[in-house]
Amino acid sequence: MKPAPFAYVRARSLDEALGCLVADPEAKILAGGQSLVPMMNMRLARPSTLVDLNAVAELSGVDAAADGGLAIGALTRHTDLVTSPLVRERAPLLATAAAHIGHRAIRNRGTLGGSLAHADPAAELPAAVLALGATLVAAGPGGRRRIAADDFFLGLFATALAADEILVAVETPPHRDAAWGFAEVARRAGDFAIAGAAVAAIPGDVGRSARVRLVAFGVDDRPIRLTAAEIHLGDPALTPDAAAAAGAAAAGCCHPAADVHASAEYRRHLVSVLTEQVVREAAGRRAARREGESRWSQSP
Ligand SMILES: Cc1cc2nc3c(=O)[nH]c(=O)nc-3n(C[C@H](O)[C@H](O)[C@H](O)COP(=O)(O)OP(=O)(O)OC[C@H]3O[C@@H](n4cnc5c(N)ncnc54)[C@H](O)[C@@H]3O)c2cc1C
Repeated sequence: MKPAPFAYVRARSLDEALGCLVADPEAKILAGGQSLVPMMNMRLARPSTLVDLNAVAELSGVDAAADGGLAIGALTRHTDLVTSPLVRERAPLLATAAAHIGHRAIRNRGTLGGSLAHADPAAELPAAVLALGATLVAAGPGGRRRIAADDFFLGLFATALAADEILVAVETPPHRDAAWGFAEVARRAGDFAIAGAAVAAIPGDVGRSARVRLVAFGVDDRPIRLTAAEIHLGDPALTPDAAAAAGAAAAGCCHPAADVHASAEYRRHLVSVLTEQVVREAAGRRAARREGESRWSQSP
């Protein structure tokens, strides 16, 4: 099918793009086009103007933040998340999640900001930024505001972004103790997940131990925190033993729907199994890191 007629603006700056959104309330941002263009072709989306961000260079790239975290431009492609040495070092959960998206051609065009703004409940990157406790930076006519990932995803394809706002960056906190895990089940490699889980240990408040954040995706109308499972996992309690308790608790946290791919019951079962799996992964990584550190400190 072909899209309904639309106007096209290749914005040269963020201000120009924001001006286009104010001038036309029916305008939409075009980033990688991997979700928007198929929706336009199926006439599920009919923007009157497409505001193309691809020439706004300031929105791409990965920067190291002074606190040990990252600031990542919204237009950064999935492929760059997968291959960036900085992302692999400081937010390996994000790099791993991005590697599960679709196929190479899709990852070469699709963007971090596009995936978060689109807010597909089965998408990998929304789940990863939620597990990391990231902060999303939005620019609008009144300036910039920072939105916690916990407050960003509001429902099925719905976010806290206003129609005249553009997601410009994502800030991830410092990586803690190598304690992270990511797993999903899909029918074929490259398909959207039937269900998935992610876990990350992030720094606690000053003087406090790390907090462990557990997230499931594909099993509710948005990525969800598995808070009833998190209570089994403090920093000292991130152990394989606690993984089974967390997995059992996780199934009760979600409200999966049945569709042609899986029943609600099967998705609930997957959440339980995948939660246990990612917690075991995180515990194993942390133990390996600590063993490496103690060997290093004992070497003459
Ligand atoms: C065959 C196929 C398989 C796929 N498989 C997966 C998969 O397994 N997992 C997965 O997560 N995704 C998958 N995708 C989707 C892909 O990841 C998209 O790249 C992503 O969902 C949207 O990113 P985009 O940059 O292409 O955004 P676009 O398609 O350009 O935009 C998507 C939406 O976000 C808005 N938007 C984009 N950028 C911004 C911004 N900076 N600020 C505000 N609003 C913005 C647009 O206006 C639009 O409403 C698949 C796509 C295809 C075609």
